[in-house]
Amino acid sequence: MPQTCSPQFDARLRQMLTRIVAVLVMLLSFAPFSVSASELLVAHSYKMAGDTSRMRLVVHFDKEPDLRWFLLRDPHRLAIEMPEAEFRFDAEELTARSMVTGVYYGNTGPGTSRLILSFDGPFAVERVEILQNESEPGYRMVADIGAASEEAFQTAMAEQVATTGATAAAKGDRLVKQAVRQTRPFRVVIDPGHGGIDTGAAGVSGTQEKTITLAFALELKKRLEDVGGLDVFLTRDRDLFLRLDERVKIARQNEADLFISIHADSIRQKSVRGATVYTVSDKASDPEAAAKAIRENLADEIAGVVVEEENEEVADILVDLIRRETQGFSIRFARSLVEELKGAIAMIPTNPHRFAGFRVLRAPDVPSVLLELGYLSNPDDEALLRDPEWRAKAANGIASAIGYFAAARQGAGG
Ligand SMILES: [Zn+2]
Repeated sequence: MPQTCSPQFDARLRQMLTRIVAVLVMLLSFAPFSVSASELLVAHSYKMAGDTSRMRLVVHFDKEPDLRWFLLRDPHRLAIEMPEAEFRFDAEELTARSMVTGVYYGNTGPGTSRLILSFDGPFAVERVEILQNESEPGYRMVADIGAASEEAFQTAMAEQVATTGATAAAKGDRLVKQAVRQTRPFRVVIDPGHGGIDTGAAGVSGTQEKTITLAFALELKKRLEDVGGLDVFLTRDRDLFLRLDERVKIARQNEADLFISIHADSIRQKSVRGATVYTVSDKASDPEAAAKAIRENLADEIAGVVVEEENEEVADILVDLIRRETQGFSIRFARSLVEELKGAIAMIPTNPHRFAGFRVLRAPDVPSVLLELGYLSNPDDEALLRDPEWRAKAANGIASAIGYFAAARQGAGG
């Protein structure tokens, strides 16, 4: 037999070679790009908590995740992009709560997955951090999110478009932005305490606290608008129930420079009378202030609203810094308010500036005070609270304190 290949053998050899090449191509194209289930990033233990003004999101990972986040609008959403992941979330933890209306997750293309949260309104991402677990293997992402104005959301969106990769501005930038506010009128949000089903305290001759606080707030707003140079907002302008966190949210959404919650309390000792100014503090100035905060914080429960546990134990250094600075401004305003009111109306004889854990004063970035105009449980105070002339004097005192505070804040460039 001559040593030449027959046409049949040649064809068979070519067929075999083609098959081998095909298998090789298959192996080459699949092996390096396919991610076996064991290599996938595992996202687990999803948790979110907070109220309608602030929340925290925590997601655990089996290994250090490479995350990127960005904002989406219509509706307002936060998207967190990560390498292809296997999501082991407990469905119950994903149900809408706090500011979140929906949670979505899954694969979004070769090698990538996304976790998307939709919100009930504009928000600001205060921090996103990846931390290594201390007591167990793995990592966790911690994100703190607060309600914000539409303007702030749009600005953040514009910035993410401007920076490549759609990642957020560094923390330092946010601090700078906090300090350099745009030149616009000083903004005051007045919060008439209680409302709707929550009537607040009752006066000796039947006056309801919610009615007094609203009437006073409307008069104060008018007084401040007459003075001019200020933007004045109300949390409510009618007989409406608002949760405490909704009041905080309104202040933040309006980018308030000052928040004043108006009240007129009632206590058993009918002889006690006069106005008191309160600021927030974890430690109360005295037992009466502590009891007062407990009474005011009950507003939500009175209306049958379930209040979720706030998780405040883990504080971000940045938020902490802002909170401490805000606290200083709240105290400064409270002192000046006491001074101005002293000349206009009667203050409670001892310590007219007190502090306790009022939930309505918890905005981390808005100086906030709670003003107790007087005691509805005292017949003389109740009569004064119903007297338009007395109320005008009180409004004048508050207006001048706000005027000094606004001038000092704006003079300082922020
Ligand atoms: Zn009250």
